[in-house]
Amino acid sequence: MPAPAAPIPIPARHGKAALVRRGQRIRVINTHGSQVVDTWALADPPPERERPELLSMAHTRSRNSKIYPGAGDVLFSDRRRPMLTWLEDTSPGRHDTLLPACSPAIYAEHGCAPGHRSCAQNLQEALAALGVARLPFTPDPLNLFMNIPIGRDGAVDRQPPLSRPGDHVLLRAEMDLVIAFSACPQDITPINGPGCTPMDAHFTIEDA
Ligand SMILES: [Zn+2]
Repeated sequence: MPAPAAPIPIPARHGKAALVRRGQRIRVINTHGSQVVDTWALADPPPERERPELLSMAHTRSRNSKIYPGAGDVLFSDRRRPMLTWLEDTSPGRHDTLLPACSPAIYAEHGCAPGHRSCAQNLQEALAALGVARLPFTPDPLNLFMNIPIGRDGAVDRQPPLSRPGDHVLLRAEMDLVIAFSACPQDITPINGPGCTPMDAHFTIEDA
């Protein structure tokens, strides 16, 4: 039996990306339980078109006819191709697909001084560290562990994660891809726990 893959840190307030081959599994671990992990995927190698093929929350919601994907669901690209299959989820299963990655503009709305770290910045830094070309925009992320209850009237709330320390999500790559994560730096609203303190998370890449 192969040795378990070493967990790769997603440092608090920072991002990390990795190459994943078709069939490999990606285990995303909420090490402290309270951390939202913004997640993106890009087809690798990128197709010879203007835009890379990207994991799409809009097409994933459409194909699954739900806004909270979970174990058993397939996550789709913006070309409607399967990119990831969601195999396991030990958390209570609340993840967000509606809200954008936090960005300098959002922190400006909060009144933060310029320079507050953001998931949008973390994505670009993580891709650059892997030698992947900068994206000209921030794709909508899969916000793992982010607890965004939707009221019957359509109202959007922002609550601390329901996950517990060590909860994980297991995804299987359905194509060769680049996976990118951000340990969300949001410390104004309680989406990263009532203490508003971003924490590390971890992931592993496992062979089937
Ligand atoms: Zn964020």
